[in-house]
Amino acid sequence: AAIAALALTACGRAEPGTTSTTGAGGFEKNSSIGVALPQKTSENWVLAEKLFNDGLSGAGFKPDVQFANGGVSEQQNQISAMITKGAKVIIVGAIDGAQLGTQLKQAKDSGATIIAYDRLLLNTENVDYYVAYDNFKVGVLQGQALLDGMKAKKPTGPYNIELFAGSPDDANAKVFFDGAMSILKPKIDDGTLKVLSGQASFEQAVTQGWKAENAQRRADTLLTGSYGTASLDGVLSPNDTLARAVLTSVKAAGKPLPIITGQDSEVESVKSILAGEQYSTINKDTRKLVEHAIVMVKDLQAGKTPEINDDKSYNNTVKTVPAFLLPPVIVTAANVKTAYADDPVLGPLTK
Ligand code: BGC
Repeated sequence: AAIAALALTACGRAEPGTTSTTGAGGFEKNSSIGVALPQKTSENWVLAEKLFNDGLSGAGFKPDVQFANGGVSEQQNQISAMITKGAKVIIVGAIDGAQLGTQLKQAKDSGATIIAYDRLLLNTENVDYYVAYDNFKVGVLQGQALLDGMKAKKPTGPYNIELFAGSPDDANAKVFFDGAMSILKPKIDDGTLKVLSGQASFEQAVTQGWKAENAQRRADTLLTGSYGTASLDGVLSPNDTLARAVLTSVKAAGKPLPIITGQDSEVESVKSILAGEQYSTINKDTRKLVEHAIVMVKDLQAGKTPEINDDKSYNNTVKTVPAFLLPPVIVTAANVKTAYADDPVLGPLTK
């Protein structure tokens, strides 16, 4: 860094004839880039690890990709270690978006740029960009799919449904739920949908740690408590892992399978859609998301301002974070054979 810095003029432009790889206001190409990932709660995170390592090395950076399977304090320590190693950009998929304030401040003070990846970082001014699939839209698509799926099976209501949400420490969980409820709430209010358990709030629907066993246990309780004789027509599930857990519970109870939503295009869920069990998932191609995060890193390296396409949706209570949002796509049996045409794993599976 020192050599590159010497080659810069006061205004930050490289002197003609120098071989600096630093753009104006940028940094050296072989810099360390930190990527702090949460726990392996779904396949998308596991995929992201390899994609970040390959993509960042391929672009000439030094990737430092860490999972925090041990929880929040492990993730805090990992971010501190990234700062010590001199990371120029730190990409964060937070376990708990509200618990990293101290480390993010230290990171900014060290001169690093912070990119929130997939999950927003909350209650801090020390986040520069957000790159994610449009989370609210994910919820809207799930809510609409739930309605469409139930109507296709039984043209008129009322329909009995139950609601599941993700982990309350993940900033996405509430946004997914709110998106879905923007579609479902009016139908609950007009009596088309009945939540027989009465558990219709986010707080009642959450699944701590996005853990399958927690969703399965809650589904067992709901089925015993409210569906002795009544039929369960539909379940809002925020992702594939939890959808499969709920289906396991319904099967164990010997009840007919409900229409159930999901998210992430996990292999087992795509198979389940093909088999006519899980109703829907959401395609949020991890390759595209990681690719875009790396485009942002390249822009920052070159001293360019990364492109954003949304400057109003993701307020973290301190600031509205400039975001680049990708469009999620709903997948049901109707389009499962075309949706993954270019996916190396799901493509062959769905042919
Ligand atoms: C991601 C989802 C994922 C969930 C659990 C969320 O933040 O956006 O794709 O299903 O975490 O890992």
